[in-house]
Amino acid sequence: MLLVDLELKVIAEKHGHLCPYLALGWRVGLFFKNFLLKKEFTSFENFFVLAYAHSCALSALELMNFKISCENIGEHVYVLQTITGDALSMIAVNAEIIIPPRELEELTWKIKSDTALYYEKAHYSYLFDNWIVDILNASEEELFVFPHERV
Ligand SMILES: [Zn+2]
Repeated sequence: MLLVDLELKVIAEKHGHLCPYLALGWRVGLFFKNFLLKKEFTSFENFFVLAYAHSCALSALELMNFKISCENIGEHVYVLQTITGDALSMIAVNAEIIIPPRELEELTWKIKSDTALYYEKAHYSYLFDNWIVDILNASEEELFVFPHERV
């Protein structure tokens, strides 16, 4: 397993695996937590995250104590809301980071159809881990677009 932040490690253990979308959900959760801390909130149970894509990211957010609602239209857009439904912050994930690397998709197909060679399986693991590392190492500016912010 990759060496990752302890909080993410615990989340991955509770979730059952570490995958790119779990890492993404953790990054989204951290962003919203920092947003709330700056506004001097210290508990997160009274906030909802409305997600527009159904993925393991929701599990990470839930394990970070956010309440979750999801309208699945396949877009990685996340809105932080108060319990009364007021939107506080909104982020969209940079599509380049969210789309699996092309080579990874080809190998996934080979593995699923049981035609992958040994070294291809190893290469798959390498690419998969790299994708997670890319998500974890991206700056907030690289990972997110902030549609609500006007320049
Ligand atoms: Zn997952």
